[in-house]
Amino acid sequence: RRRLEGKAAIVTGAGSGIGRAAAIRMAEEGAKVCLVDLKERNAEAVEHIITAAGGEAIVADTDVSDPARVEAAILSAVDAFGRLDVVFANAGINGTMAPIETLTPEQWSHTLSTNLSGTFYIVKYAIPHLKEDGGSIVVTSSINGNRKFKNFGGAAYSASKAAQVAFAKMAALELAQYRIRVNAICPGAIQTNIGENTQQTDEVQSIEIPIKYPKGSQPLAHRAGRPEQVADLVLFLACDESSHITGTEVYIDGAESLL
Ligand code: NAD
Repeated sequence: RRRLEGKAAIVTGAGSGIGRAAAIRMAEEGAKVCLVDLKERNAEAVEHIITAAGGEAIVADTDVSDPARVEAAILSAVDAFGRLDVVFANAGINGTMAPIETLTPEQWSHTLSTNLSGTFYIVKYAIPHLKEDGGSIVVTSSINGNRKFKNFGGAAYSASKAAQVAFAKMAALELAQYRIRVNAICPGAIQTNIGENTQQTDEVQSIEIPIKYPKGSQPLAHRAGRPEQVADLVLFLACDESSHITGTEVYIDGAESLL
């Protein structure tokens, strides 16, 4: 029996990278998947991969920082699949990398509203549907903001990623009564497209760092991880194999954060 047979999942940031790999992996294990992304065409490409392999998927062209759109995406998933069991709150951006002194309030808000508020909205609007049968929520945080602080210029990013873990833990406590589990994952560098949309300001070079850290590769593999490796962790946390795991964060970084 496949590990998510008969289950329905919603994945944000499903058009690329970690979200794409996790959506495909969950569909392989029997889940019907609602693919949420700003970039509709990329999500449609993932839909084609899943349906060509005999799976079931729909696309919700949605900006996770817009609560009304997020609620509509949840409802479209429940309409299409008749249920909801798994939420992968994964959409995220690096945003603008700049010293705090030059980072604008708008740049700060853009990162926080995508990474942190986007997580709140998808979880909030999923709860009424997850409550019926219990379920699993997985939140993509990062080593940055939790174990590692070497992403200079990334104060907004790290703040959002640390807050996502705190949010996941509070949600785990609050939702345990409904048999809804909530866990965060903290990836190190993973080979995705996240760098493409990063706004790297020149001022970021001016940040005085107390210690020159070695430019770390990951001790385990001497390279960044692959999205498929993260997808296997997401699948584990989504399915019943992790039935007693909630309120925790799992590092998946080849020991990068220990350097
Ligand atoms: P990616 O850029 O390859 O994929 C992210 C997807 O999210 C894209 O398809 C993008 O269109 C979508 N997205 C961005 N903003 C959105 C919004 N407002 N609404 C809906 N969709 C939106 O990046 P990735 O590396 O796969 O990132 C996924 C998550 O992993 C992020 O939360 C990121 O912070 C986290 N992460 C990534 C790394 C890494 O090294 N790649 C490391 C640690 C954590």
